[in-house]
Amino acid sequence: MSNVRNQPCSCGSGIKYKKCCLEHQNKYTVFCDETGNSGSNYLDLNQPFFVIAGWIVPNKNLKNTSYIEECTTSLGVSNELKSSKLIKRKKARQKFIDLFDSLCINLECIPTFVFAEKKYCVAAKIIETLLDPAYNNEVDYSFTFDNLKKKELTEKVYSFPNESLEDFINFYLDGNAEKMTQCIRQMSDHAYSIGLYEISKLFKGALSGIVNNLETEKAAHASMPNKAMEAINVPVFLSITQIIEKIGRKTKYNFSLVHDETKQFEDAYTDIFKKISEADSFEAKLTDGNSIIMGYKHLKDFSFITSSQSKWVQAADILAGVLGRLLNDIKDDTLNDDSLLKLAKTLLPSLLFQDVIKLSDSICSNQTREKIFEAIKPLEN
Ligand SMILES: [Zn+2]
Repeated sequence: MSNVRNQPCSCGSGIKYKKCCLEHQNKYTVFCDETGNSGSNYLDLNQPFFVIAGWIVPNKNLKNTSYIEECTTSLGVSNELKSSKLIKRKKARQKFIDLFDSLCINLECIPTFVFAEKKYCVAAKIIETLLDPAYNNEVDYSFTFDNLKKKELTEKVYSFPNESLEDFINFYLDGNAEKMTQCIRQMSDHAYSIGLYEISKLFKGALSGIVNNLETEKAAHASMPNKAMEAINVPVFLSITQIIEKIGRKTKYNFSLVHDETKQFEDAYTDIFKKISEADSFEAKLTDGNSIIMGYKHLKDFSFITSSQSKWVQAADILAGVLGRLLNDIKDDTLNDDSLLKLAKTLLPSLLFQDVIKLSDSICSNQTREKIFEAIKPLEN
């Protein structure tokens, strides 16, 4: 045995097997980046989605950044590859398709992503806050893990007028109990007027505890630096760590997570990762079949790197940028460009096929999800 370990590796690297492919066996690094960050400006119509996307790269291929460099040079980019400007160019979109193909086929990389629709997140926040059993006598404690019911109610609130959702989030962030009371009454009346009697009643149940409720929320916000709790970045970041840990538990592979440097959320991400990954092992089963896990065993570490120093982070920027653009176009019914359609059909189907291993997640309304599935549908034929 030890003989084989000390022999030159069969991959042809010229390095001993134990220092080469054996060491990299079953080890992966996930490089991720974000797009659509608008902090606590939840209903930012210019950026309706927030996306975290990453490339799962086998460690044995980490040094091979030739395809990313090729893409950079072919587009005449002198410094960093960045999606924001390039995505407007048809030639760049074509090059992105080639890059994604090369990374997936030649380097066995896999794209992973989580996106959140901000308007849906506000609706979810309304349900989560107002129907908190600790501050609402109409709500039973079993509601806490009943996310099937929560999703059902969130869908309904998602269809409320934009102004109601805007009011809620503003008064929520201000901690203004008086205005929040008015807002709850209005939403309750609105629900009643469209036949949502259950929601109307549940909202009224939130009125008596609203002062304490908002105070608790404010205290929770203060526990995280840089207003991180007020944005959806942290929960979306958590979702991607959950996806990676779950892949690890299924495959027995080990992962490192590397994120592009982000001033606003660096401390928050580090804190939350430490808390969740070092917690006692625990799995909370949710009623919709999903679960939240604590105590990471396969996602071993998390760090930041500046994009100028990592070609892989630049590739993640491209991935996130492409996904953000696709989602916006699909939502606006403007996805009609060939190259974007091709990218959509490459990247988005992982939302559909989650039976074996879940590689992506969406926090969005059914309406938006249906639009996505509609856009990529021809692929199934
Ligand atoms: Zn080797």
